Amino acid sequence: MKTLLTGGTVVSMDPAVGDLAPGDVLVEDGVIVEVAARIDAPDAEVIDATDRIVVPGFVDNHRHTWQTAFRGAGADWTFAEWAVAMHGTVKPHYRPEDVYAGTLLGRLEALHSGVTTMLDWYHVAGTHEHEDAAVAALRDAPGHSIFCLGAGWGTPDPVDSDVRRVRDVLPGDGPVTMALGLRGPEATDLDTVARELKLAAELGLRTSLHVDLTTGAVAELHAHGLLRDTTTFVHGNGLGDEELRMLADAGSSLSISPDVELKMGFGRPMTGRALAAGLRPTLSVDDVPSAAGDMFSTMRTAFAVQRGLDGGLRSRDLLSFVTLDAAASCGLDARTGSITPGKDADIVLLRADDLTVFPVTDPVASIVSAGHPGLVDTVLVSGRVVKRDGVLVDVDLAALRTRLLASRERIAAAAGIPLDGTWRPRPSSE
Ligand SMILES: [Zn+2]
Repeated sequence: MKTLLTGGTVVSMDPAVGDLAPGDVLVEDGVIVEVAARIDAPDAEVIDATDRIVVPGFVDNHRHTWQTAFRGAGADWTFAEWAVAMHGTVKPHYRPEDVYAGTLLGRLEALHSGVTTMLDWYHVAGTHEHEDAAVAALRDAPGHSIFCLGAGWGTPDPVDSDVRRVRDVLPGDGPVTMALGLRGPEATDLDTVARELKLAAELGLRTSLHVDLTTGAVAELHAHGLLRDTTTFVHGNGLGDEELRMLADAGSSLSISPDVELKMGFGRPMTGRALAAGLRPTLSVDDVPSAAGDMFSTMRTAFAVQRGLDGGLRSRDLLSFVTLDAAASCGLDARTGSITPGKDADIVLLRADDLTVFPVTDPVASIVSAGHPGLVDTVLVSGRVVKRDGVLVDVDLAALRTRLLASRERIAAAAGIPLDGTWRPRPSSE
C-alpha cells in the first residue's frame, strides 16, 4: 500500500534530505521510500499537504502516564507536594482499570499532540494485573510505545522474575516494546544497580533512571563501571560538568523535563550545560498533573530558559531534541526521528495556515516559538493515518472520557481528596 504526501513544507531533520518547500513524501508498506520536490506515484493514496508543515513524529522518552486522571491538578505543587499527592495519596487506590484508563487516555493525548513514540515510565504499583493493564492500554493506542517497568516511590522494586515475566509479554520489536526503569544510586545501593543492569543486558533492555538533585551520583556509577550507552538519565539538575562529560563519553542519554524541573524546584534545565559537555539533550513531559503533555511546550520552555541564560540554542536544536535525538535515546534512530527513506513513516502534518502561526516564514522557528497541539492536523504511525483533519481516527473519545472521569472520581472519593481546585497536598515535614 502506498501513500503520497504532496505539496507540503517538508522539514526532514535529516541533513542528507534537507528541507523542501514544497516537497512530496512517498510511503510504502509503512516505510518512507522517497522524499523529493515532486514524486509521481499514480497508484498511491494522496494526502494533500498544502499549507502543512511536514515534520517527523515527536518522541517523548519519559512520561509517567498513569497519572492522567489528575491532569492539571498540580500546577501549583512543589516536588514534595507532588510526591505526597500522587504517590502517597492517590496511588494506593489505583486499581488495574484505573491504570488502563489513565495510560490509554494519556497515550492518546500524546498521539493527538504528534508524539508518535512515547516511553511510559511506569511506577504506579507492582502487581502483575496493574502492569498488564498498562501494557494493554499502550497496545490499544495506535503508536510506538515503550513500557518502562520501573519502581521507586513506595513501589516494590521489580524482582528478576517480574522483569522476566513482562519481558515474555513484550518479547520483540512490535509497536509496544520494553525498557527497565532503575531506582539508581539515589534510591538504592550500587550492588542493586549493577544487578539490574546485568539483568537488563541479558534481556536486551535499555534502561532509564532518575537523578534529580544529587551531585556525584553519576561519578559514583562511573567509578564502578556502571555507565551504559543504553541508559537514559532523567533530569540531572544536580550533576556537575565533569559528570555530564562522563555521560557523553559513555554514550548515555539525558532527558530534560523543563516545565516540571523549573516549577517543582529541581533547578534550571541542563540543556546548555549538556550540549557544552558533548551530550545531545532530549526533552520529556514527565508529569501531566503539573505540566502540559505536548512537546511544543517542552521545546518552548527549554528554549526560553536557555536563551535567557546565555542566548544559546537555535530553534532547530529544539526540534532535534524531540525528534532525532530522542529517537536515539530510545535506540530507535535507525527507525524513526527523521523523514528519511528507509525509516518508519512516523510523520506529523502541522497547519501552517492557522492564524497562530500564519504567515510562516521559517517553519522551524514558527513551530518552536508558537507551535501547539491545535496545529496537529494529521499523524501517521508507520504509514497508518491515526489522526486526520485534527481528529483521532477510530477512537471513541466520549466513552473513554466517561471512563477516565469515573476512574478519577472513584480514586478521589477513596483517597478523600476534593476535585474542586482546593486540593492542597501536605507533606509530612510541614
Ligand atoms: Zn520522572
